[in-house]
Amino acid sequence: MGKGISIGVTLSILLFLLYLGFSPLPLLVLAVIVGMAWYFFQSRSGAQIGVGQNKRLQRKSSVPDVSFEEIGGHARSKKELKEALDFLIHRDRIQQYGIRPIKGILLSGPPGTGKTLMAKAAAHYTDSVFAATSGSEFVEMYVGVGAQRIRELFRDARTQARKNQKNSAIIFIDEIDVIGGKREGSQHREYDQTLNQLLTEMDGITSDQEVQVLVVAATNRKDMLDSALLRPGRFDRHISVDLPDKQARVSILKMHTRNKPLAEDADIERIALETFGFSGAQLESLTNEAAIYALRDNSRLIGHEHLSRAIDKVMMGEKTDRETTREERERVAIHELGHAVVSEWVRSGSVSQVSLSPRGQALGYVRHHPGQDRYLYTRKQLEDQVMICLAGAAAEQMIYKNRSTGAQNDYEQATRYIRTLMEAGLSDLGIIDKDLVGKEMLHAESAKILKDLYERTEHLLQQYSHVFQEALDVLLREEVLSGDQFRQLLKYTASSSDAVRIGG
Ligand code: ATP
Repeated sequence: MGKGISIGVTLSILLFLLYLGFSPLPLLVLAVIVGMAWYFFQSRSGAQIGVGQNKRLQRKSSVPDVSFEEIGGHARSKKELKEALDFLIHRDRIQQYGIRPIKGILLSGPPGTGKTLMAKAAAHYTDSVFAATSGSEFVEMYVGVGAQRIRELFRDARTQARKNQKNSAIIFIDEIDVIGGKREGSQHREYDQTLNQLLTEMDGITSDQEVQVLVVAATNRKDMLDSALLRPGRFDRHISVDLPDKQARVSILKMHTRNKPLAEDADIERIALETFGFSGAQLESLTNEAAIYALRDNSRLIGHEHLSRAIDKVMMGEKTDRETTREERERVAIHELGHAVVSEWVRSGSVSQVSLSPRGQALGYVRHHPGQDRYLYTRKQLEDQVMICLAGAAAEQMIYKNRSTGAQNDYEQATRYIRTLMEAGLSDLGIIDKDLVGKEMLHAESAKILKDLYERTEHLLQQYSHVFQEALDVLLREEVLSGDQFRQLLKYTASSSDAVRIGG
């Protein structure tokens, strides 16, 4: 009815304008623009309020089938989490003791370490329905919509639990820092409302409710979170989910190769050794990439070489077709050989590969591993790392008597190590407060260390100068030198010359 009247009125106005001699075209264009904007607004807010949310919850709110056994490593985090979850399982007992229920668990750690997996396993372990959302889904919300979404999230989780005849529900909020960041001044007003609503809902959780709700949140930036979120009675259980150590990497790799045809020569222990610093997600991606390489090679089985290539792919990105001149290739080879020589000198057996194929931003690279996972460094160990970084530039200087722009990243990395060295009180400055000693003093000390280490690197490379010509020819021909091939060359050239080992 209303529609009919408005169409009638619009037509009459248009006819009247025509009669007066005005063109109705601009009005029509304006009407179309307004109509489109209105339609866009309606469809977005419709999706955000209710409709999209319910769909999402319906999709995700059954009990997940991921168990703790399917998460590699993280033994301590899993144990801590299970202990906290036991409170949810034995509700009657905790009520007896008058213990308040755990309302929130915060999982913190680098991206891809398995926080979402842990939350799903928590729901599986406690036989709870699982409702997942992410802080970033609250970005660009209209005022009040975020808070409404939080209310719906809790309400729908409870409804789903009842429907599935479960007496608990786990709400998982990934990237909690997006809505739970520290509140300063009048910024983030909309996020404030969302966060306040979350806190209100959490405060409303009691142990005598028919459906017990537990909120599990994940973040990579725990330091950014508002203290209101972390106070007792809210997210007061903090569990860190760190990068996997070597043993954990072995078990994650085994888990993700279980359904893949591995060849006899595939050495998972070795791959784990060479993937220090990889997250669970990167390890999963590595196994997948290795399988793709095997498929492309028409190989029935996934060999060690496929896994090794996959490390490069995950670490450095896909090979690029960057065209380089012969001169550039030679210089890159010399540069990389410099890194490799010093890396072997620092830790014999540490070089896994020297490669001349451009990947990501790099024109060549050396893959070396620390031998064993390391979390503490002495001054000597940090200095060794700096020397490995400087060795590319020093090798160029030795052969060409000049250096190129290719060492820029190496210098950045070297200065990072030196900063750590100074801030940890390991430099000649002694133990310092970096804010009090002043930038100039830090700069002067850093420059002194850099100069000293650069000279030592140059001196060291001179002792091995005979290796370069030999290795350069092979590298230019083969494009890739495996760690073993490189060590063979080192050994061969050392025995056929008077090279001396000056440390290590
Ligand atoms: P983000 O912080 O980026 O959200 P996350 O820490 O939540 O990441 P997940 O989404 O849980 O990481 O992990 C991504 C994928 O990585 C998983 O689906 C799984 O395949 C793999 N993965 C990560 N950690 C592990 C692990 N410990 N064991 C087995 N697989 C893992």
